[in-house]
Amino acid sequence: MGLEGRVALVTGASRGMGRAIALKLAGLGCKMAVNYVAIDDQNRLDADNVVETIIGLGGEAFPVEADVRDGEAVKAMVQRVIDRWDKIDVLVNNAGITRDNLLLRMSEDAWDSVLDVNLRGTYLCSKFALKSMIRQGWGRIISVASIAGVIGNAGQTNYAASKGGIIAFTKSIAREVGSRGITANAVAPGFIKTSMTEALSEEIKNSILSMTSLRRAGEPEEVAELVAFLASDAAGYITGQVIGIDGGM
Ligand code: NAP
Repeated sequence: MGLEGRVALVTGASRGMGRAIALKLAGLGCKMAVNYVAIDDQNRLDADNVVETIIGLGGEAFPVEADVRDGEAVKAMVQRVIDRWDKIDVLVNNAGITRDNLLLRMSEDAWDSVLDVNLRGTYLCSKFALKSMIRQGWGRIISVASIAGVIGNAGQTNYAASKGGIIAFTKSIAREVGSRGITANAVAPGFIKTSMTEALSEEIKNSILSMTSLRRAGEPEEVAELVAFLASDAAGYITGQVIGIDGGM
């Protein structure tokens, strides 16, 4: 798929979809920078586990700590990757959180923290990774949005706004840097089996599944397949797009 020797940075790669994406890209020959945020020891252990798994399978990887909300930390993280491998070819903006509530009950803190991680994090990582891509005249920015950012979702105004923002941001970068050989696309997953959705009640899970044509939740590895395709040479003429991966919601 033309990914052999490419350098990829995946944010929030310690678990869930980010982990699956990191393992998939590594399996296709990418050198992997595995981002995590050091909230507690477990985050570091999880990131180390991803790195060790990749190395155990014969790949190259190292963990890079940074809170994606923090501009200085993101800048330093990008520099660490460039110091090690001279470039960044593929950026996957995957880190994301939810803090759901009905709008009338939504605190300013819940609003700000979701916008900060999901949208500001995507802006900061894209901005700092872009320089290397422009220099080499090739790059892929793939951001994990959500079906909620396309059709909205009651109880998730903050999350849907952040994901809708990611979609508009992606379309804008695609126009800004397309002439430099860089593509920017978003994926919009539906209901995927990770710790983010594990927290939902059985009632909500069943109601989501009843709206899903395939009547099942998606696997993180299925999203990873799509991200890998968008990162590959095969997707060289696709940019500014939002690709749904939601089992037909
Ligand atoms: P997850 O299992 O909760 O993983 C989220 C990841 O983001 C974790 O690795 C987490 O790190 C990281 N993260 C959170 N805050 C961060 C920060 N400030 N800096 C760096 N990393 C941070 O969730 P997931 O389901 O895999 O979600 C991955 C992406 O898919 C998110 O953008 C989410 O919105 C999106 N998505 C998920 C679904 C779904 O059904 N699961 C559907 C649509 C879209 P820690 O381990 O340190 O907390």
